[in-house]
Order: sequence, then C-alpha cells, then structure tokens
Amino acid sequence: MFTWSIPGLVSSERPTIVWFRQDLRLADNPAWHAATMRGGPILPLYILDDGNAGAHRPGAASRWWLHRSLNALNGELGGFLHVRCGHADDLLPRIVAASGAGAVYWNRCYEPWRIRRDKGIREHLKRDGLQVRSFNGSLLYEPAAIAKDDGSPYRVFTPYWRNGCLAGPVQPRDVLPRPEKPGLMRMPGDAGLTVDALGLLPGIHWYKGIEAEWRPGERGARQRLDAFVEQGIAGYRQGRDRPDLPHVSRLSPHLHFGEISPHQVREAVLPLAETRQLDDDVDAFLSELGWREFSYYLLYHWPAITHENLQRKFDRFPWRDDPGALDRWQRGQTGYPIVDAGMRELWRTGYMHNRVRMVTASFLVKNLMQHWHHGEAWFRDTLVDADLASNSVSWQWVAGSGADAAPYFRIFNPVTQGTKFDPAGDYVRQYVPEIAGLPDRYLQAPWTAPPDVLAAAGVTLGDTYPGPVVDLKASRARALAAFKSLTPAV
Ligand code: FAD
Repeated sequence: MFTWSIPGLVSSERPTIVWFRQDLRLADNPAWHAATMRGGPILPLYILDDGNAGAHRPGAASRWWLHRSLNALNGELGGFLHVRCGHADDLLPRIVAASGAGAVYWNRCYEPWRIRRDKGIREHLKRDGLQVRSFNGSLLYEPAAIAKDDGSPYRVFTPYWRNGCLAGPVQPRDVLPRPEKPGLMRMPGDAGLTVDALGLLPGIHWYKGIEAEWRPGERGARQRLDAFVEQGIAGYRQGRDRPDLPHVSRLSPHLHFGEISPHQVREAVLPLAETRQLDDDVDAFLSELGWREFSYYLLYHWPAITHENLQRKFDRFPWRDDPGALDRWQRGQTGYPIVDAGMRELWRTGYMHNRVRMVTASFLVKNLMQHWHHGEAWFRDTLVDADLASNSVSWQWVAGSGADAAPYFRIFNPVTQGTKFDPAGDYVRQYVPEIAGLPDRYLQAPWTAPPDVLAAAGVTLGDTYPGPVVDLKASRARALAAFKSLTPAV
C-alpha cells in the first residue's frame, strides 16, 4: 500500500508524519531527526494554511521565497514532500487517517495564531490516540524557559540576553546531524498538490531582482553562512553598521524559513573567537541573533505586540494621515538619498540593511509622522525575511512605543546617518543612480548643492530627482511636540 524509498524496509511502526512549517531543512531538524529514530516510514508534509494565518499570511516577497524553498526541500526529499493547502486543523486528522500514521512530529512555532492552532491540533490528535511530539527547532532559548528572578518576563534586552540567556540555567542544545537515508512514504491514493499549484508566485514577474540576489533552500543557507564565516564576520562589530560594506550575514530569510537553525549558525561562529581571535565580532554577531531571540520572547509574552503599542500612552499619539507622503516613502522618492536608497534596495532585492531599516523607519514614524502600522505592513509585504516577531518588535522599537525602545526623542537625521555610514556614497549611488554624478559632499543632501553643481551632475530637483518631502528641522520639531503632548505636564 505504501511507497517506500528504501525497498524492503520492514518495520512494525506505523508511519510518522513530519509536519514542516518554519523549519524547511533536514539537518539539525529535531522533529525530522526524532522521526528517523522512531523507525517506520515517514510522511513529510507541508500545509499552506493562509486561512488560520489570516492577516499574518506571508506577504508577496515571502511567498516567492516560500515557493523556492519548498521546491528545494522537496528536491532534498527526492520528491516525497506531500503538499496541501487549507486549514491545518481540518487537514491533519484526515491525512493521519488516510496514511495510517501513528505519530505526528513538528517543530514549535511561536506566532500567537500558530500557538492557538497547534494546541487544538495536538489535543485532537492525542484524543485519537496519536503520539504527538513537538520540538524546539528555531530558537536558542525557548521563551517559556527564561524569566527574571521574580518569575516575570524581561522587558529590556541587555539583562534578558546577559543574565537570562548567556548566564542562564538553560543552554542551547547541540546541533543534530542530518539523518541518512530515512524511509519515506507517499500518501496512498493521493498525490497532494505540486508546489506550483499553491500559487505562491505572483502573476506579474516583478521578482527578477530578488531572484538574482538569493538562493532559497538549505543549501543556499549553508553557502551564505560559509561565506559569512570566511569573509564577513571579521570586522562585523564595526562593519555591521555600513550598508556599503559586505559585513552582515544576510542570513535573515534563511533563518526565518528555518533553512538553517540558529544553533547551526552559533556553532559555526563560536570557534572563531578562539581560532581567529574574533571575540568582539563573534560577541556582537551573537547578540544580534539575541535580538531575534528577544523578539520572539516579547511576542510570546505580549502577543498583542503585533498591533498594540506596548507603551499604551502611544495610543494617544497624533499620527498624521498623509497617503501622498507614505507613497513617496514606499517608492523611494522622498528626496532624502539614504532613505530612498533603502526603500529601493527593499523593492529591488527584498532586503534592506539593518542600519538603513532604522533610518527609513525613523523617517516614516517621526519626520512623516505616519503610524508604524503602515511601515510594518509595507515591510511585511516586501521583505523576504518578513517575520512577525522581528518586524513588529523592531517597528515598535523605532517608534518608541515598544518594550526596550529607542527613546522617541532620538530622531535619526538621514543626512548625518548617510554621511556617517555611507561615507563614499557607494550605497546611495548604487540604488539612486540619478544623483550618482553629485560630488560626495552634496550626495546625501542634493538640495544644498549650488545650481551649477546640480547641472554638471545632470540633476534637476523636482524633475530628475525629487526635492525633500519634508523639512528636517520643522518635521523634527513637530514630532517632538507631538511626543511631548503624550506626557501631561506636572
Ligand atoms: P546580521 O547582522 O547578519 O544578523 C544576524 C541575524 O541576527 C539576522 O539574520 C537576524 O536573524 C538577527 N538579527 C539581526 N539584527 C536583528 C534585529 N535588530 N532584530 C531581530 N533580529 C535581528 N529582521 C527580520 O528577520 N525580519 C523582519 O521582518 C525585520 N523587520 C525589521 C524592521 C525594522 C523597522 C527594523 C529596524 C529591523 C527589522 N529586522 C527584521 C531586524 C534586522 O534589520 C534584520 O534581522 C537584519 O537586517 C537582517 O540582516 P542580516 O541577516 O544580514 O543581519
């Protein structure tokens, strides 16, 4: 009745379903590993569950990535991935019944909608007599295991990371090897869907730039990590703020889709502290991974962080409604070159450098005074690494409304930021080519250039490149006044 990948495999065990979700890899995959240890055939399963995800369904860029990543995983599995689309709580019991499975294994996810859904599924399957096991495949430190001495959750990153994680009682597990030649099965009498049939790719082929930039899948992730270990990490502490230098790992989409685990990343960089004396760089890099952990931690303990201000006084913030300004920000037409370069990098490649994410986000919520929800939604749709935890927490951090937030009155000046972190203008010139001919001293603020300099560079403000969408000084003062209005005078 079943199709086995290993002819003649004999086992008394009923099949195990391994339900892949945000863990699209075979190495260091605890659920996959445990299923192979259990013995018996394995049915690898993926369900696209937009129904339960609702507003949190993947955005357009993420869907492109998912398409490619599922194909890569299916390739690794020799075409055995059983693909379905629909409500997982509805489909899983039916797949269990049709396959004769005795066990269902998965790695835990931490988005509130998934926690709710998985709890229901677990109870249902257990009632039906199934063995149900879940594992930690995607975080170094599980949110429920870390607390302050008084048992309450941390709200501030540094004590969370230093005391709760690095010096805490529960340390990350070892990396698991990729199991060799597991016995796979197909669903009897039901081929499921092809990855193409999920319809993840958009009708219009707008993703050429994204395609040129990335190689989704476990192998692509490993390549990216190896290249970073070879070339990027030396100098990371200083270089990570420079969008013009290749010092960041660009592992975020691979981590988001679980094509590589943080355990594998940690294991690859830890020895470099000793072998190449890169202690400072390794510490700085691990603490960035720590921010990913912290984002999940906050999401787990404050699930409403995706839409509600963590600091409730921001509910009274007088956000402005200016669709024209929002549109210029989205299209990279604000007239501030570092902001425009970031927004265009995002549109073209599905990625934006972290320093520039902070600058563009600050510009939107402070200079343009648009609600952080608008920025969060745009990033969610256009980032290949769009991640409910990191995106919500980072937007609240920039807006000043989050847990361990940048103070609202710290408003990034895009000209100073551009000059400091893109000193030769390489990053701006790459993404805003229409002003590439300007001399360095005017590149980050073209409106300050004398007319003859603009003419020599072929720039006509308001025509070939926009003038500034707002005045920096006035918009800063406006934002500070709005912030002040939140705190009643004493
Ligand atoms: P590296 O510097 O190489 O860092 C290694 C890894 O650490 C990253 O891959 C990422 O998983 C994690 N990391 C690094 N910085 C952060 C951070 N500040 N917060 C959380 N994790 C971090 N990151 C996402 O993965 N998805 C998002 O949707 C997302 N939205 C963001 C929105 C805003 C407004 C801002 C300011 C930041 C956002 N970030 C998000 C965080 C950060 O910008 C990216 O994780 C980082 O730029 C990814 O590039 P990298 O892999 O080269 O990072």
